Amino acid sequence: MVEQDSRREDEWFRQNEKELIEAARKAREARERERAEHEAVEARAKLKAAHFMKCPKCGHDLKETDFSGVDIDVCSYCEGVFVDAGELEELFLKREEERRGLFRKLLRL
Ligand SMILES: [Zn+2]
Repeated sequence: MVEQDSRREDEWFRQNEKELIEAARKAREARERERAEHEAVEARAKLKAAHFMKCPKCGHDLKETDFSGVDIDVCSYCEGVFVDAGELEELFLKREEERRGLFRKLLRL
């Protein structure tokens, strides 16, 4: 009887220990995920700070310029022209006449 109680107690401790270890593992994994997400956010912020509004060709500052209602980015040094996602479609949707005027403006004619 005493031996059986002791065995049951051992089993309870083993089970309890297993649950504690599992809970600690899950908590550690959650902290690791949180750290990784935080690092990813920091890395994106650093990349953006280093490259935001910089020419991808020469690294000089880009200047936002309005061309017929579409904001395009023009390099202050090499005069490269860059558009954000969606802006190219906006330019294509402009009427033929408007587009011709826009390209004349871009080419500084
Ligand atoms: Zn440039």
